[in-house]
Amino acid sequence: MQVFSTPAILLRRMDYGDFDVIITFFTLKSGKLTLIAKSAKKSTRRFAGILELFSILDLVAGSGRGKGMPVLQEAVLKQPFSGIRSDFKKTAYASYWAELIYNWMEDNFKQDALYFLFAHVLSELDSGQTTAAALNILFQMRFLSLSGHRPHLAACSQCHRELENIPQAKIILDLQRGGILCGDCSSRCTSRLSLLKGTIKQLLWVEDGNLAKATRMKFSAPALQESTHFLEEFVSYHLGRQPRSLKFLRQIRD
Ligand SMILES: [Zn+2]
Repeated sequence: MQVFSTPAILLRRMDYGDFDVIITFFTLKSGKLTLIAKSAKKSTRRFAGILELFSILDLVAGSGRGKGMPVLQEAVLKQPFSGIRSDFKKTAYASYWAELIYNWMEDNFKQDALYFLFAHVLSELDSGQTTAAALNILFQMRFLSLSGHRPHLAACSQCHRELENIPQAKIILDLQRGGILCGDCSSRCTSRLSLLKGTIKQLLWVEDGNLAKATRMKFSAPALQESTHFLEEFVSYHLGRQPRSLKFLRQIRD
């Protein structure tokens, strides 16, 4: 049997039969990974109370010779993040981020930058240091870049005129082209999505560079609102459908 160990964030869990639980982790070493935890459902001894959503664990798993699912051997809880699970709004945000990773990431494909981003936003959400709405912008902007769907915000998606050289303050976004359009190129565009130039600059600022600094970015209420609307539309469009957890999040937040 091959045994491996890795830090991991619990993305999804599902009861399997009378005793077992199937768990999908986002791991540091192998990206998205689905394991079976035997006797985890009934037993109070094995993994008692630690296999909870969004927790960070150090896990040890073994894969047999066959094609069966790897089996969870040991798990040590590192960050319980119980502040998220005890708050239904925070849970809704974390569920949305977890669904994006679950639906968009390939199995067994290492994505360490995304792992550290997800761990960071969960930690901030748990402690309440940063508002959930600001973390949602940070996560989505960086997630889009890391998953190869980076929105083109620095220049017109059609004629490549740079943002600085676009005179309009209100700038149209075309979801199909995946970015902004200058005044000339947007005249026949029917898109109703737009962002203020100042908001676009803030989004470009949180997209890369130091994560701690980007986390401290202060968005004004209107910038927060239009960024949120834009990013959630952009994500749903490029994912091909609206994530279920996003629908729920939109219903329950203020
Ligand atoms: Zn243009």
